[in-house]
Amino acid sequence: MPDRKKQQVHFLLFHIGALLTALAFFLYVKGSRAGLFGPVSCVFHDLFHVYCPSCGGTRAILELLRFHPVRSFLALPVVPLGAVAGLVLYVRAWVAFVRREKKLLWLPGWLIWSFLGLYLIYGLVRAVLLVGFRIDLLGDFYPR
Ligand SMILES: [Zn+2]
Repeated sequence: MPDRKKQQVHFLLFHIGALLTALAFFLYVKGSRAGLFGPVSCVFHDLFHVYCPSCGGTRAILELLRFHPVRSFLALPVVPLGAVAGLVLYVRAWVAFVRREKKLLWLPGWLIWSFLGLYLIYGLVRAVLLVGFRIDLLGDFYPR
């Protein structure tokens, strides 16, 4: 398959994947609210009464969808920051696609490592605040 054709197929598959992910999240939220199933539980949260680094992710996404970026940031900072980075990368990919550049996805290593670092450090700080000082940033264990 020629490079341009392959690139178009990959770009189309990316959009189909993004749409299916958005649909799955929408159905999860609707189903959860309708009582069809409970919220996805977390082993750390349920058994050890601490937050794992991913706890608050659903809340962060929902707050972002309600246009509350600050609340989203407080629930899980990598979500709104990742949305901004994802939007920039997405626009960049479209520009590259229209210009027929060879490389559509520009994802530098420093960006990936920064997000991973923020994700882990925030998770650790949140756990230390909860266990050591009873400061509960999500409010599940010590309601504000
Ligand atoms: Zn968790």
